[in-house]
Amino acid sequence: MKVIRAKSAGFCWGVERAIDIAREYAQKGRHPVYTDGPLIHNRQMMEVLTKEGIREVGDYSSQTQLEVKAEVDDQSVMVVRAHGISPERRTYLKSLGMEFRDATCPDVGIIAGKVRLHAKKGFVTVIFGDPKHPEVIGLLGYAEAGGHVITSQADIDALPALGDKVCMVSQSTMFVDEFAMLSNHLKVKYPSALIFDTICGATKDRQSDVVELKRQGCQAIVVIGGRHSANTVKLAKLVEMQGLPCYHVETAAELDFTGFKKYQMVGVTAGASTPAFLIDEVCQKLEAVV
Ligand code: SF4
Repeated sequence: MKVIRAKSAGFCWGVERAIDIAREYAQKGRHPVYTDGPLIHNRQMMEVLTKEGIREVGDYSSQTQLEVKAEVDDQSVMVVRAHGISPERRTYLKSLGMEFRDATCPDVGIIAGKVRLHAKKGFVTVIFGDPKHPEVIGLLGYAEAGGHVITSQADIDALPALGDKVCMVSQSTMFVDEFAMLSNHLKVKYPSALIFDTICGATKDRQSDVVELKRQGCQAIVVIGGRHSANTVKLAKLVEMQGLPCYHVETAAELDFTGFKKYQMVGVTAGASTPAFLIDEVCQKLEAVV
């Protein structure tokens, strides 16, 4: 069977950078290397990193107090994840008394910078994103004059009067079309609103590659990645929106490869937090289907 692997499948540069930063400390013998919540939203990769001495503490959304004080010494280091954190969380993590290293993805840093700059000028920020996602929680922390998270037109309709200083940004991993539709809707309610399309290039590439796989003739698409990875879940949804059968799995073990005999061409893509070894295994097993 012909298998087409999306060019963008797997780690985005922001995730790769955060992993490299944490690994560099671990390889230098710095232990423990703490991360405030899972460094990436991929269970299999987290198992690999844990064995290397990179230890996740705290919770998914980086909000709980960390019970690490008793263990902290001059070898400990705290690495901030690619999702970034709020200014308050930064102050808290720095107060823990260990080296602090910020591995926030520069693309998330740009969004935080826009929110902070406009908040200082008195703008209210509307963020299109998942209110429970750590990136959105972090960004909200920069919206000094007020921040609102929306996911739908109904959420925009329910917003109060916000004056004439409103700006809108997006969580980096949202759908491009949805952002365009919602920003147009926001403009109707707040005509002077400033709109910043802050969906990152890596996300846009992954989304357009799904469309490209269909254009190339793939009859089904396998999406590999964590079920709690926002961008992977979105990729799976996008495949379904293209009208193609979608197989969302975390590992090759979840796939019934004999069921693929009915296809001549299958596409493979993976979320930004999916390591190459998981993608390689799925591709090899699919290629062996006759
Ligand atoms: S998905 Fe985009 S914003 Fe998020 S870590 Fe990757 S490159 Fe950075």
